[in-house]
Amino acid sequence: MRARFAPSPTGYLHVGGARTALYNYLAVRATGGEFILRSDDTDTERSSGEFQNDILDGMRWLGLEWDEGIEKGGPHSPYRQSERLARYQEVARSLLDLGKAYLCFATAAELDEMRDVAKAEGRPPGYDGRYRDYDSEQARKRLDGGEDAVIRLKVPRPGETVFEDLVRGEVRFNHDHVEDFIILRSNQTPTYHLASSVDDVDFGITHVIRGEDLLSSTPKHILIGEALEAAPIAYAHLSLLMGPDGKKLSKRHGDTSLRAYREAGYLSEAMTNYLALLGWSFGEDSDIFTLEEAVARFSLDAVQPNAAIFDNDKLEWMNGVYIRAMSDDEFADRVAPLITAEYGELNELQHVRLRMILPHVKERAKLLNEVPGQVGFLMTDDIDYDRGSWDKVMTAPEAKMAVEDGLERLSNLDRWDAESIEGELRAMLEHLQLNGRKGLQPIRVAISGSTISPPLFESMEALGQAETVVRTSRALDLLLESGANLGDS
Ligand code: GLU
Repeated sequence: MRARFAPSPTGYLHVGGARTALYNYLAVRATGGEFILRSDDTDTERSSGEFQNDILDGMRWLGLEWDEGIEKGGPHSPYRQSERLARYQEVARSLLDLGKAYLCFATAAELDEMRDVAKAEGRPPGYDGRYRDYDSEQARKRLDGGEDAVIRLKVPRPGETVFEDLVRGEVRFNHDHVEDFIILRSNQTPTYHLASSVDDVDFGITHVIRGEDLLSSTPKHILIGEALEAAPIAYAHLSLLMGPDGKKLSKRHGDTSLRAYREAGYLSEAMTNYLALLGWSFGEDSDIFTLEEAVARFSLDAVQPNAAIFDNDKLEWMNGVYIRAMSDDEFADRVAPLITAEYGELNELQHVRLRMILPHVKERAKLLNEVPGQVGFLMTDDIDYDRGSWDKVMTAPEAKMAVEDGLERLSNLDRWDAESIEGELRAMLEHLQLNGRKGLQPIRVAISGSTISPPLFESMEALGQAETVVRTSRALDLLLESGANLGDS
């Protein structure tokens, strides 16, 4: 099996493109063969090196190593369409010489008119074939005289192209709906149909696995392959991705580039796992699997033709599963760069606090990027109270009682670990007849600045007794002095 991923570097790698790349990778690795990465960069105006690099980075991040192609090289180099223009021109001309394609001189005005006529007659719009049987001598002469001409493929008529899509089953296209399409433009650049089909033939591609948006191009590609007398290629068209609202995944659903997910703190393993499930299932037993495990079970036959929903909530949940599966050390290593990016190089005290709290953060985190914010109260001894948190919790009548009583107990505690802290604070709740929410939230705000923090007792243990007491008494002072309002500071 030889399959290719052929992105156009005209934008960042999108999650839909990443899913196509992944399915190509899985199909090849499951059967044995080569996975080829080609660049469809004939649109020089919209293509850029930045997008090309983003695509390569994204694939590497997901673990989708390719065997041949961009940056790897291989027996069919170059793998960039912009470097193969002469080859496409050569093929177009040879099809012309063989009478399988023809020169067409129709002007833009003529084409517009054809569209209007077709519309008026209720036919699908398309080229009417007016140069199909044009005298070839005459055509040569006009070309040599400097007239502009395109080359069109002579689609067999009447006729039909039928193929067995590996995902969708039998697909039929009556040639009444396939115009004699352009393969080479008058400026000698190939159309996508020509460049893609010639590459697939030249690179010995056996399977084309791509998005359903390209299904209507497939009869054209098959016809070019037949005109070249090439071995038939198997096609598999993957359903498009939808947002949870059932509409085609697009900008309206937010930034759907792979890099946006990467930057938001998703793990590549979770992303790969999730993408694999968009149209395929691992089995009844599990939704969580490694890339190697997916390879062992994957088959194109089992890919579903119906639309797949890209659901951020499920992806986020899955990311949390992967985070919890990490060892504490691995988690600490992975968040370390994010934490130093936020707070600079850490001192010994910060290291000690982090080491204590991270295992508890890990148990609850969904995204790596939320971690620096969650541990911020441990990285500084000068915390800011979040005003919303303060107003919500500290203005309640019980707050002062809880902070005052808590402070007294915490100052006198002679063992400083989460369990002892918990014992003492539960005794405080009992004593004051308060429930956990009423009695402990004020303490949480006092030590962390916010109603949202890692687990309270562990947070206090990591903060240390001295600093806990300092913060709690500062909060109490504020409560006494302002009559519970944080004031304008
Ligand atoms: N370059 C095309 C695209 O990015 C895909 C070509 C193909 O898979 O045939 O849409």
